[in-house]
Amino acid sequence: RTALVWFRRDLRNFDHAALHHALQRSETVFCAFIYDKDILGTLPRADRRVEFIHACIAELAADLQQMGGGLIVRHALAQEEIPRLAAELNADAVFANHDYEPQAIARDAAVAQALAADGRLLFTFKDQVIFEKNDVLSQSGTPFSVFTPYKNAWLKRLQAQPDSVAPWPIDPHVRKLAALPDSPLPTLEQLGFERTNLAQLAIPTGMRGGAQLFEDFLERIAGYGMARDYPAVKGPSYLSLHLRFGTVSIRHLVRTVSDLSARGQAGDGGAVWLSELIWREFYMMILYHHPHVAQSSFKTAYDAIEWETGPDADELFAAWCEGRTGYPLVDAAMAQLNRTGYMHNRLRMVTACFLIKDLGIDWRRGEAYFAQHLNDFDLSANNGGWQWASSSGCDAQPYFRIFNPITQSEKFDPEGKFIKRYLPQLAALDPREIHAPWQVPRMVLAEKGITLGRDYPQPLVMHDEARKRTLERYAVVKKPG
Ligand code: FAD
Repeated sequence: RTALVWFRRDLRNFDHAALHHALQRSETVFCAFIYDKDILGTLPRADRRVEFIHACIAELAADLQQMGGGLIVRHALAQEEIPRLAAELNADAVFANHDYEPQAIARDAAVAQALAADGRLLFTFKDQVIFEKNDVLSQSGTPFSVFTPYKNAWLKRLQAQPDSVAPWPIDPHVRKLAALPDSPLPTLEQLGFERTNLAQLAIPTGMRGGAQLFEDFLERIAGYGMARDYPAVKGPSYLSLHLRFGTVSIRHLVRTVSDLSARGQAGDGGAVWLSELIWREFYMMILYHHPHVAQSSFKTAYDAIEWETGPDADELFAAWCEGRTGYPLVDAAMAQLNRTGYMHNRLRMVTACFLIKDLGIDWRRGEAYFAQHLNDFDLSANNGGWQWASSSGCDAQPYFRIFNPITQSEKFDPEGKFIKRYLPQLAALDPREIHAPWQVPRMVLAEKGITLGRDYPQPLVMHDEARKRTLERYAVVKKPG
């Protein structure tokens, strides 16, 4: 029997469910990755994610080759190419890992149908999460829509079934890996993309990059609970991009952290970090069970809210995108996103709340901007985050809780270190001045060489007034929360 393993967001050759099962069941196993024209066609010509994937594919292909196999890489419509390739290789089955996004589910159904028409099978497996679909349900047998009970049930299930984090080994059967002769990898240029500043940013790529980041994070994990909220500090793991493309194994991460915690070596950081990984699965399952959230509010009443529209709103939105709001923490955060493709979690919350509740712009516009610019863009987490900020989501902050961008700045960037990193024109301001420069007397600013409106914008809105407008806007939502 011959199998074809179709890699998608699982770009690694270890602890891989589909690869494991293909190797177990078949005599000959080919591996393939398709640069999907359906996806690539929607992206800007310079896209860090494509460059990141390109580096991961080169590493994966080389590693598979070393194991005696190879990676067939094509630039095509995956939906057509996979059935075609399966026929070309005379594979009786295609193996892949589950994806929970509506478009991917539809694509996989179409591939399964095309394969079946030709007498071939598509086998898919749980791989990118510990628990999926109906693995974790409430006592009444329905999916959870509130995080804390979901998390408790998730942890209970892991305790009852520790095998859920056992690796899917590849080694026993690697000799079955096969390769096509003359299977060159397309260059970035052949794919129609340009280089970005990914190399300058020194973002580690591939399985080795993921492992290196994880190792580095384990040294800091004990302090994660405290450090993770301060954008100027190296607090979080920076693994989101690797989790997105599967260059790390979620089972390995959870196993390692659980073991460290059990040995008392992860401080309280281990449990806090595990909780973040559970948020990831929570939002994936919200999207899976409620695919309408990709277009509209989880709580449908929130779709009655009237957002600002027209040229003035467009200008407010453009100012937010370009980091010209006049609120330094918001502007520094948007600069971080625009220059690096990463934004600290605290700042994702602050900038999202600011767009929605200070500027009155539809959360979907912000969601789309993040989707285009985040290296780690993941439909479920991004949508979950935006619906949380707009209060329209499953377990969102209540609508009347409106972040004060100045207080957030004072609390989470007290010295203004993060702000100064991205807005060097404010470097001369001291910690009392930097969070709201328009409140500093003009003379004082002038002495420091800063003129508002020239060196840095005046604020677009006054937060207190914006807050009142938001409460009026949200009055259409009858029940709080
Ligand atoms: P760490 O703090 O080290 O967390 C570890 C991992 O846990 C992350 O890599 C991620 O996989 C997961 N995680 C952490 N927080 C969340 C969360 N709130 N929801 C779901 N998973 C989480 N995360 C994405 O991966 N992709 C997105 O497109 C995305 N968009 C977001 C949009 C908004 C408006 C908000 C508020 C949050 C968003 N997040 C998104 C969640 C979170 O901000 C990032 O996962 C985190 O900042 C990534 O950095 P890290 O890997 O260093 O995180």
